[in-house]
Amino acid sequence: MPSAFSLASTLLRREILDLHAYHVPDSTGYIKLDAMENPYPVPSALRGEIAGVVAAAAINRYPDPGAASLKEKIRCTLDLPDDMGVLLGNGSDELIQLLALALNKPGATLLGLEPSFVMYKMIATFTGMRYVGVPLAADFSLDLPTTLTAIRREKPALVFIAYPNNPTGNLFSAPDVMQIIETAPGLVVVDEAYYAFAADSFIPRLADYPNLLVMRTFSKLGMAGLRLGFLAGRTAWLEQLEKLRLPYNVGVLPQVVAEKLLGHHKILLQQAEQIKLDRAALHRQLGAIAGVQVYPSEANFLLFRAARATEVFDGLKRRGVLIKNLNGGHPMLNNCLRVTVGTPDECAKFVAALLDTLNQLA
Ligand SMILES: *Cc1c(COP(=O)(O)O)cnc(C)c1O
Repeated sequence: MPSAFSLASTLLRREILDLHAYHVPDSTGYIKLDAMENPYPVPSALRGEIAGVVAAAAINRYPDPGAASLKEKIRCTLDLPDDMGVLLGNGSDELIQLLALALNKPGATLLGLEPSFVMYKMIATFTGMRYVGVPLAADFSLDLPTTLTAIRREKPALVFIAYPNNPTGNLFSAPDVMQIIETAPGLVVVDEAYYAFAADSFIPRLADYPNLLVMRTFSKLGMAGLRLGFLAGRTAWLEQLEKLRLPYNVGVLPQVVAEKLLGHHKILLQQAEQIKLDRAALHRQLGAIAGVQVYPSEANFLLFRAARATEVFDGLKRRGVLIKNLNGGHPMLNNCLRVTVGTPDECAKFVAALLDTLNQLA
């Protein structure tokens, strides 16, 4: 009888064997500023209400497969245009996967910008879809001529644009993104994971383009634990994608809890406003540190560069602060680190730990 190891090595697809598992470090005990979570727990006034809907939920039953009530709540809370549909995902990661599965005809290409959200490329690999990455300019803005040329050459079936971009934090120029949508022969998905922290959105532009979908998640707005994302756009697209969605991908509890929380969307947006103020303060503080270069951000995190970034990351970790080390990933992210904007207290502890680490390294 062959070992499980040799069986797995023979039977599994080569691309899967070659992948490095997405590494999520154990964060127990750390000040956790690595994953763009909202640092504020659910307000106590709301906890009782949530306990109520959870207690009343029919968890012995399968969820409403169409999640009609939650979808209606999303539509009216976010003012989605009446003629646009909504498709829910178990986080927006699941929607990226669903789009890749749906559009992956033999030879079809998924085009992403680099550096950007790593799941676009990873999911292209999972699904066996051809992937093309187009580099951003050195300042992380769109390199429009290069991008348009790549689109004309590669004719991608699917293009992902994170707006604002992760891990760089900046918001691309809207007219540039529009030119990409106009040039692309395939579907363009504008990923607005950080919509609550940004000054612009493509939802009002959905009607202008037949090949545009907007994707959002509630993860960065305080519901990362619920796993809920959605696609908004024309029903001609969404009705087809619905066929591929697993029928019960959003459970009973995420449905009722998210609906309740969206009933208090204002509270979440106020937290986002606070985070934006704290982002500005943290940006100023980082900008004042010699040897640290901090980038502009319209998201709930900041990208910064410092010499010996991996040692800086390790020094922060030893001091109890966990951020994201991007050094060694994409070549344009050499010596880059990404920190989520936490509470003012968490930010202060991060800055103190950073100063201490830099002093020790000097
Ligand atoms: C965090 C993030 C997502 C994934 O969000 P989930 O809904 O938690 O799966 C998608 N896109 C970008 C750009 C992100 O930063």
